[in-house]
Amino acid sequence: MKNKRQFTTAQLQGWDKEFVWHPFTQMQDWLADDPVVIVKGEGCWLIDSEGKRYLDGVASMWTNVHGHCNTELNRALAEQASKIEHSTLLGLAGEQSILLAKRLVEIAPAGLRKVFYSDNGSTAVEVGLKMAYQYHCHKGSPEKSCFIRLQHAYHGDTIGSMSVGGIPIYHSTFGPLLFKTIEAPAPYCYRCLFGRIDNYDCGMPCLTELEKLIKENLGSLAGMVIEPMLQGAGGMLVQPKGYLKGVSKLCEIYGILLITDEVATGFGRTGVMFACEHEEVRPDIMAVSKGLCAGYLPLAATLATDEIYQAFLGDYSELRTFFHGHTFTGNPLACAVALRSLELFKENRLLEAVNDRSLQLKNHLKRLANLPAVGDVRQYGLAAGVELVKDKETREPYPWEEKIGIKVCTEARKFGLFSRPLGNTVVIFPPLSITADELDFMIDGVERAIKIVTE
Ligand SMILES: *Cc1c(COP(=O)(O)O)cnc(C)c1O
Repeated sequence: MKNKRQFTTAQLQGWDKEFVWHPFTQMQDWLADDPVVIVKGEGCWLIDSEGKRYLDGVASMWTNVHGHCNTELNRALAEQASKIEHSTLLGLAGEQSILLAKRLVEIAPAGLRKVFYSDNGSTAVEVGLKMAYQYHCHKGSPEKSCFIRLQHAYHGDTIGSMSVGGIPIYHSTFGPLLFKTIEAPAPYCYRCLFGRIDNYDCGMPCLTELEKLIKENLGSLAGMVIEPMLQGAGGMLVQPKGYLKGVSKLCEIYGILLITDEVATGFGRTGVMFACEHEEVRPDIMAVSKGLCAGYLPLAATLATDEIYQAFLGDYSELRTFFHGHTFTGNPLACAVALRSLELFKENRLLEAVNDRSLQLKNHLKRLANLPAVGDVRQYGLAAGVELVKDKETREPYPWEEKIGIKVCTEARKFGLFSRPLGNTVVIFPPLSITADELDFMIDGVERAIKIVTE
């Protein structure tokens, strides 16, 4: 039979430990355990080499939209593969990258008119930074080379995208390699830097501070980079209503470019196509990746306004060209799947379903918030974080060495739920196509695991 497995689980596990270096993983811990080896997927479920099923609680690193092994997406991929797998955008145009760019401009926030492809979230952000800086060069202001970004920001792992990152545990080791940026306070309301605890009508002193920083550095600022509405990897930090609008107004008033990183929030995650729609914000540059290709293939795009694009036009000898590009830019297989994925949003009324599931999740989270070890629950659409604390009264965090988040996820796995924490925060980030029953199953697993580990 074609599907018959050739290798035993033990063989695969052995070779994994021998040959594979896993991302964001202490390999010494990894080697002490036997890894789950995924061989198949079905809807929201991952299936391992022993036939055990796990609900994919992190949508395979926040990428999966319509479920795994989706018939329609498989067909789109196969159809495209039967035509051509890849041809370059350096010197040639491609059918699928044309059609996808056109579609992206149709659904993107108003004003974004041009699509620059790359293949992952980090590069999509990095392209945005380079575009913003070179734009200022073309406008005669090469001194505008500095970016402002938020504390707890995550924009990727390449040197450029790390430079605009604000998570010390990931980024500080590489400090000497990074370029300087200006850090603005994050609107992390549960741990408000200004002591305005639990008060969403706080007047947002974080915005006042941002304005001060912008004013102080105005002459050198190229732009502001931000994950709109929800800082993902920083701990699922939900921005209070009006915050993003405030940021966008400041960028407008002071004439700095607004670069929104929708790599995690884009494509329906927050109940609308792009999170900045919630506050009618129109960025100058927008980075997308994760959900773009529905979890199928690495694909990313950086969208820009006509104003930015026009600044790069000129005689060849003026060197106004945007000198940036990746080998697999605009890959036809990925673009074909992304196009079909966007059709499926409509055909399956996916945004409506996301909003239904979000309400359901909200009710579950109310219950979880009452657990003694749960300090804060934060949710936007189908993305949520449950922050565990050692002391609910004082909000004292668990020391990170206690690996409390990891322990909860390890426990949850016994109930058939795969999840991955962000520090002390348990992440809920399922495929958007998750059913009501599956979501109940998922939160039940999270709740049981939290109770077992913390009580
Ligand atoms: C994941 C992520 C990135 C980086 O994407 P990669 O594909 O891992 O390079 C950038 N920004 C945000 C907001 C992300 O969540």
